[in-house]
Amino acid sequence: MEEVKCYMPSTLKEALEIKSKVDCIPLAGGSDLMVAHKRTLGLTPRFDKPVMIIRNLKELRKIYVNDKGECCIGSACTSTEIAENPLCPWHLRQAASRMGAIGLRNSATIGGNIANASPKGDTPGPLYLLDARVKLSSVNGEREELVSDFIVKFRTLDLKSDELITEIIVPYSEDDFDYIFWHKVGTRKANAISKITLSQAIKFASDGTVADYRVSATATGAKTNRSRDVENIIIGKKITSSLIEDVIKAFDAVISPRAMPEFRREATRRMIRRFLTVSATHPKEKVIDTYDGYYVTGQPEPRRK
Ligand SMILES: Cc1cc2nc3c(=O)[nH]c(=O)nc-3n(C[C@H](O)[C@H](O)[C@H](O)COP(=O)(O)OP(=O)(O)OC[C@H]3O[C@@H](n4cnc5c(N)ncnc54)[C@H](O)[C@@H]3O)c2cc1C
Repeated sequence: MEEVKCYMPSTLKEALEIKSKVDCIPLAGGSDLMVAHKRTLGLTPRFDKPVMIIRNLKELRKIYVNDKGECCIGSACTSTEIAENPLCPWHLRQAASRMGAIGLRNSATIGGNIANASPKGDTPGPLYLLDARVKLSSVNGEREELVSDFIVKFRTLDLKSDELITEIIVPYSEDDFDYIFWHKVGTRKANAISKITLSQAIKFASDGTVADYRVSATATGAKTNRSRDVENIIIGKKITSSLIEDVIKAFDAVISPRAMPEFRREATRRMIRRFLTVSATHPKEKVIDTYDGYYVTGQPEPRRK
């Protein structure tokens, strides 16, 4: 059996010191890494570098509200912890609750999902939509960056060799929205990698014009897609059928799905059309979703403050 050198720091400080001196792979839940490094049946995964297990660092397991009123999620928090914590923003809880299946959600972490930098990752969709930031820490200090800038492209991050993702900071911007939408298209309810995940949110001004609109999509290009230029098409205007078609056409030009492109484009168009059409009728309920072709509306669970 081949040996893997493994570091198990007991504090974040210790982990950052190791990272500053040793070229090692941080392992959180291991759900991506163990698959990426797997070998044939009966053989342990092969790692060509030492591994540093960060999953149990308590500094990375906290979910709290900071003094600016933003939701801060430790990078080693699992999908289950996020899905079940009412402090976490609604869109993110939806994405976390539909990742993989129960076993996976108990080990997969949000830091690992971001660092995997897969366009099919479920949490970047809500994180782009809500202008979330990552906190990156090293022995030299901390810095913050928008998740949408941090994920440069497929499997490429703006991460220095001595840094770890320590926190994900999500403004509670969805409180400001009148209607919210999140939908994952997959082949099954569990263990289905996204065909597309679409997140949307809209706010109306008192004169009925759109005060803000946001839309992000995963699995529709080399990274999660969001475009302020597209959103600006509808902002400041009253929703009409032709305006909806303008938004759809513009977003269609932004996305570039490689596999099943027409299926992904058509599903995206339909979800945008439905959300904007239903929200323009100003239903009582805040959550707008689609299920088997029908509109479903409801209220989000109240968030504990
Ligand atoms: C059966 C199965 C089903 C899946 N279903 C889904 C799904 O539905 N949706 C989805 O989005 N994904 C899915 N995945 C992918 C995977 O589970 C997720 O991407 C998960 O969030 C990865 O987290 P992790 O903690 O397991 O990452 P790990 O495997 O521990 O790490 C992944 C990468 O992130 C790096 N990393 C981890 N934490 C940090 C940190 N704090 N700082 C810097 N780098 C870090 C690691 O070095 C590695 O490069 C699935 C995987 C499997 C095996």
